[in-house]
Amino acid sequence: MMSPHKKYGTDTIAVHGGRDPDAFHGVVNTPVYHASTFIFKSVEQLIETRRDRASGAFEQFTYGREGTPTTRALEDVVTQLEGGYRAVVASCGLGAIVASLTAFLSAGDHLLIIDSLYGPVRDFCESFLKRFGVEVTYFDPSLGADVAHLFQANTKVVYLESPCSLTFEMVDVPAIAKAAKARGITTIMDNTWASPFCFQPLKHGVDVSIHAATKYISGHSDLMLGIAVCTEEAFIPVKKTASGSGYCGGPDDVYMALRGLRTLPLRIKRHQETATLIAKWLQTRPEVARVMYPALPDDPGHAIWKRDFNGASGLFGAVLKPFSDQQLAAMLDNMDLFQMGYSWGGYESLIVPTWPATLRSAKPWTEPGPALRIHAGLEDPDDLIRDLERGFARLAGV
Ligand SMILES: *Cc1c(COP(=O)(O)O)cnc(C)c1O
Repeated sequence: MMSPHKKYGTDTIAVHGGRDPDAFHGVVNTPVYHASTFIFKSVEQLIETRRDRASGAFEQFTYGREGTPTTRALEDVVTQLEGGYRAVVASCGLGAIVASLTAFLSAGDHLLIIDSLYGPVRDFCESFLKRFGVEVTYFDPSLGADVAHLFQANTKVVYLESPCSLTFEMVDVPAIAKAAKARGITTIMDNTWASPFCFQPLKHGVDVSIHAATKYISGHSDLMLGIAVCTEEAFIPVKKTASGSGYCGGPDDVYMALRGLRTLPLRIKRHQETATLIAKWLQTRPEVARVMYPALPDDPGHAIWKRDFNGASGLFGAVLKPFSDQQLAAMLDNMDLFQMGYSWGGYESLIVPTWPATLRSAKPWTEPGPALRIHAGLEDPDDLIRDLERGFARLAGV
């Protein structure tokens, strides 16, 4: 077992974190616990678990919704990877986001939220938060510390995503988190793109770092799960809100996410290598107006990415020159290896057309051509490039 007194690298933590074979008859993996009910031996023990909960410790297992040893194993390893205090597993990424936002926001409060954010979170703000009396302001992702000019007396949360998963703008996370902290404002960040291996938000001043474990952590496109890694101050509100709102992960999903995480350091490096090859190839293509991938040296977000991140994942975007929907369909309807589908972070390559203009309010999206979002999977990179090359030939042929 890893010693709490030694410092380990992230690859080592991915292998050994959240595992204790001695506690499970020598079994390598923490077993999957199917449990709603935990039996108490005595009234004293039952009272003790009530005390544990009331104090906000949440150390003991009391009821399936609040977690099992399998849940705790996943929470522990992701917490160690990101340098957090504790983490909270939720039923999906959006559940972890909603639990984290509602943990810190009440009627009359103000939320400052990045304009380039994941669409369903914008829908949650518009359809629910506003209905419950929370004021929402979207801000330009290029603002950096100047976000402070938008702080109001009632601002309680700043919410970030960097890079965002459609347009890939990098955000100056440390500058924004520092400005927020100075005003006692909680910073929440969606860190799904980077995975715990490419960026550790809590080390840059963020209070809650969220992953759609549905994506890279699971890595196999077969489950829905979310996790919020918290500082000590943020843990109790997020844990209470997640469990009080009914967000919990299913036992098999939690187990499979743990299993996926063990090999993520290797997978993420390959995703980055292949994404870089494809992105550079796309830059040479006459059909492409611009590639959006902060790992490329000429990307506008490259300097921030290089300063703060340890790597990149395999998700990136490309804006095409103006083409018709028919041309786009000729390309995308007939791909061999790149499939069209939402989500990403699995072992397979995906491609979808995106419409960023419909998801902006603070900083309009003005690119005339259609945009693509590409997930570089673990296939042979040459096969993927040939697939895109044939796609462009079909597009040009219409
Ligand atoms: C998919 C995704 C989510 C939501 O996760 P689900 O598990 O699908 O609810 C949140 N943020 C980003 C960036 C995502 O890509």
